Amino acid sequence: MTSDAVQPCPVADAHRRLMDCHDQWHTLHDSYLDPDGFRLNLNSLVPNLRNVTWLLQKQKAAIPDFATWYPEFQQACKKSEIMGWVVKSRNRITKESDLELLSSCQVVWTRNWIERVEATAKFPPRMSTAEIIHAMRHSGTPPFGVISVRRRWVDKALPAWELLAATAEAFSRLSQILWTAHNAFGIERCDLGDRSTECVTSSLNDSLMRLPCMHLAQSELQAHFTMSGGIINEEFESVDLSPAALKTSAERYGELKFPNSGPIENVTGFMAIARTMAEKDGHHGTFAFLYDGERVVATQEMEFDNQDTKMLSFEGLADLVESTRADGVVIIGEIWLAMPTEKEKELKSIFFPARDRLDRMEGLTVYSSTRDGRQAELLSMIERGPSGEARCGEPVEIDFPTGVNTLAPIRRRWADMQKRGL
Ligand SMILES: [Zn+2]
Ligand SMILES: [Zn+2]
Repeated sequence: MTSDAVQPCPVADAHRRLMDCHDQWHTLHDSYLDPDGFRLNLNSLVPNLRNVTWLLQKQKAAIPDFATWYPEFQQACKKSEIMGWVVKSRNRITKESDLELLSSCQVVWTRNWIERVEATAKFPPRMSTAEIIHAMRHSGTPPFGVISVRRRWVDKALPAWELLAATAEAFSRLSQILWTAHNAFGIERCDLGDRSTECVTSSLNDSLMRLPCMHLAQSELQAHFTMSGGIINEEFESVDLSPAALKTSAERYGELKFPNSGPIENVTGFMAIARTMAEKDGHHGTFAFLYDGERVVATQEMEFDNQDTKMLSFEGLADLVESTRADGVVIIGEIWLAMPTEKEKELKSIFFPARDRLDRMEGLTVYSSTRDGRQAELLSMIERGPSGEARCGEPVEIDFPTGVNTLAPIRRRWADMQKRGL
């Protein structure tokens, strides 16, 4: 049984240390461009991450069912590359020497949805992403597509992980085990006070989802630019599902029934809502719903005004998929469709994007995909009345999903997460 009331923390030493780690993680992030500062802050964060479980184990006699749930966590840690790295690194830092830190810069040229080229470039660690971009723009870059630049600190012993991501991952696991400890006492929220850093509170996570503040801080370390449009800023806007927003939407569209099973099953329900909204508003934005099983773990309003920014917003969505550990996604939005002309069929490789064509047709689409390889899509063609009003036709199932390109960044990410044991 859990209670909403704030209660004394049953594992205060471990919990306080976890909050220290949260604070220190942000300090580490702030020192990203300062090699000595970064090393120093990492050297204090890693042992503290290690100490959270020590402090918890010290109190094991007092914690209900400890012998039942703790071994499960230990087993999971043994399998986790990250938790193994925390233990080894702590030993190295306190007994032997510094970690072997490498500062690099990952440069990704995304030519289109499928073709992308990754390279690692060397830039001095003190150079900010903006300065790197400035240097690259003047050194001759490909004439189309998007260039993304990501600063990376890596430990030689953990080459596949950027270190803020690695330590955020360890933090999530520790937060979850402390959540379990509080839960064993029936405590939802303990009395440890908030810190001066606004996001550092005593709230704990019942899943391995990364904290939103860590997700946002990590995305600050990358920047994107095109030859034509200059630097592209990433925007993160979730879909407002607050009671007030739902009330406003009920007044406008009538009662909307949100589907509540998994991403594949929900396509039909989301299409019904999308048609109602598109017919009322005359248009429909693009929205993403991320799932862990049947639970929505994040929502995102996707903003883009050309192919480059569209690719970037879906790359950004892939970051969110990793941070929330989503294993399913639903995308709702309008699309342009076009049939290839006879000439284009002849030339095969040349096909102008539908959005740039005069013979384009408008459609409303809802498509979903899961990490285990399932997918579904419904398409409704939009017809316009004399004054532009939208009529959405009866939805049809599509065998060759129109969303297949836009989901490429997420599929790539799932494959990459698999490699890193996530
Ligand atoms: Zn607590
Ligand atoms: Zn934070």
